[in-house]
Amino acid sequence: DRRKLAAGNWKMNGLGAELSEIEALIASHGAASSELLICPPATLIERMARVAEGSALQIGGQDCHAAASGAHTGDTSAAMLRDAGASHVILGHSERRAGHRESDAAVRAKTEAALAEGLVAVVCVGETLEEREAGRTLEVIASQLDGSVPDAATAETVVIAYEPVWAIGTGKVATTTEITEVHDDIRARLVARFGDEVGNGMRVLYGGSVKPGNAAEIFAVENVDGALVGGASLKAADFGGIIAAL
Ligand code: 13P
Repeated sequence: DRRKLAAGNWKMNGLGAELSEIEALIASHGAASSELLICPPATLIERMARVAEGSALQIGGQDCHAAASGAHTGDTSAAMLRDAGASHVILGHSERRAGHRESDAAVRAKTEAALAEGLVAVVCVGETLEEREAGRTLEVIASQLDGSVPDAATAETVVIAYEPVWAIGTGKVATTTEITEVHDDIRARLVARFGDEVGNGMRVLYGGSVKPGNAAEIFAVENVDGALVGGASLKAADFGGIIAAL
């Protein structure tokens, strides 16, 4: 049975003052039986990890460089994330694919670097509205999965996040029919590529306008193993409502 995961992506939000939200979250849900993860901006990882120490809350980065170290101004290595207290890293988020021109090959190289450092990689895939309207959703997801997920992926080291780009930050959540179609297809592709055990063991999260009010119906979809939450992960009350729906 796949353990459910509630993951929050703070994106470029959060100063030291917002650590109070993490304190509140731990106070209310720090002993949850599901897996909990918050990925703050890199500047907050170490402080947040200190606040979360001893609780069920795990901390992750939002990106890492594919190289172990070197002349890469402004970048952060997987080892640095780990050193700061992260256990996970989000890779290939659509905002990085679009805003930083990250290709599938680049995401795969970053994922390999994360795995080599012992981080769990949350690899994101998802179609744009234009791709969906052209009937290309499953084809796009398949090629992102093939290109971004390394052969060495296991159920313990990689989590897939399906985030339709048109549902991110728009309040336009995908319907359960749309989510079912994509998640079932991702599951079938993972099993075909990695075999029964790894393919059925790997978690597949849904992301895109998940809120306390719609989380329960999304989590009821068979191949949805949790959520990657943006806006609603910033406040303990909202994220707590999503955790409660798991
Ligand atoms: P929202 O939950 O704000 O739509 O963001 C989703 C997302 O991009 C999480 O990575």
